[in-house]
Amino acid sequence: MLHTSAATQDELRRHNLARLVRILHNSGATTRSDLVASTGLNRSTVGVLVTELVTAGLVEEVAGPGGNVGRPSLVVRPVADSAVVTAFDVRVGVTVGAIVGLGGTTLATVESPNGPGPLTPEAAVAQIVSMAAELFNAVPDGASWVGVGVAIPGVVNIDSGLVLLAPNLQWSDVEFGAQLETAMRQEFGGCPLVHLGNDANLGAMSESVRGVARGRHNVIYLSGDVGIGGGIVLDGRILSGNGGYGGEVGHMVVRPDGRRCRCGSQGCWETEIGQEAILRAAGLDPKTSSIDEFVKRADEGDPQVLLAMDSIGDWIGIGLSNLVNTFNPDAVILGGHLGRLLPYTAAHIADRLAHSLPGVQETALVTEPGLGARSTLVGASEVAFGRLLADPLGEVESSHALVAS
Ligand SMILES: [Zn+2]
Repeated sequence: MLHTSAATQDELRRHNLARLVRILHNSGATTRSDLVASTGLNRSTVGVLVTELVTAGLVEEVAGPGGNVGRPSLVVRPVADSAVVTAFDVRVGVTVGAIVGLGGTTLATVESPNGPGPLTPEAAVAQIVSMAAELFNAVPDGASWVGVGVAIPGVVNIDSGLVLLAPNLQWSDVEFGAQLETAMRQEFGGCPLVHLGNDANLGAMSESVRGVARGRHNVIYLSGDVGIGGGIVLDGRILSGNGGYGGEVGHMVVRPDGRRCRCGSQGCWETEIGQEAILRAAGLDPKTSSIDEFVKRADEGDPQVLLAMDSIGDWIGIGLSNLVNTFNPDAVILGGHLGRLLPYTAAHIADRLAHSLPGVQETALVTEPGLGARSTLVGASEVAFGRLLADPLGEVESSHALVAS
């Protein structure tokens, strides 16, 4: 059975290459000895695999820091512009894009306001294609373009690229992944796989891999924008649910007699702690005022805004205590405007969490994102690297090489 054995050998080799590339992508420069230690492979196998990756241009070996006597030790590190992804974060008012290299290095970013009126899917596609063209200027000819990741503030099927419902964009049943791939292909002569993700899921993922929750395995991430999204990592995996739509905690009903929500229900958490609700709580008009203004007024000691902060802290805490009791997370990350309000809301959130179950409340760290406003964008880039990290050499061979237009 020589044939089967050879196939198995090749599978094993690809599997081990993937393990090495994932370690280097997540941790950056690593010595060969540390690669040996963290994979359990023997030194000569690691040597052969590293040489393959160097030949493919994905990694390089350079003198490492330290070692003040004798020759410096060599470290293996990812070559950022060898394989790149484009990542986009579609928000209600603005779309942010980045080109990110292997190792998670952001090579360039671009930001574009969505313009007045609701953003149509067609306009979003055109905007992303034009942002991609600008981002490609930041990488040398020949770089392998291995993925596209897009964060969407809504309910997304990650396998089919369908946006089932993004209430705050007013999108429903939009084949956004397919539309974007077609447009990219027309513009650039090729396009790697387009991965869509729910913004909060992507935030949860990036914060677990590179952010404030690194090393933690049970993480809740709330994305605060016009709506409230939720991303839940349980035992190291994103909670996805039957159709991939799980984690929509913004639509938990917390106040049955509350305001009507864009989802059609009433008294959702989002109608108490979404941006509009927050501005309204301080007597501001959501159409003409902003969270920037709200925070500035709080900093200036505006009593009406400070009073609103107390109530907002309570509502954040009420929803969070439900989630903390249900999921027993070791970190709760408040993204978007929720994080910006934390200096003012933390005490009220803590009061509410004090009523959660013993053993559950003490373990949950409530914090702002470690990656700041870039959490979801970084998450979109990570999901776009998925295929490369699963089969590095296979993916580079079949990828689309960027050439200046
Ligand atoms: Zn709702």
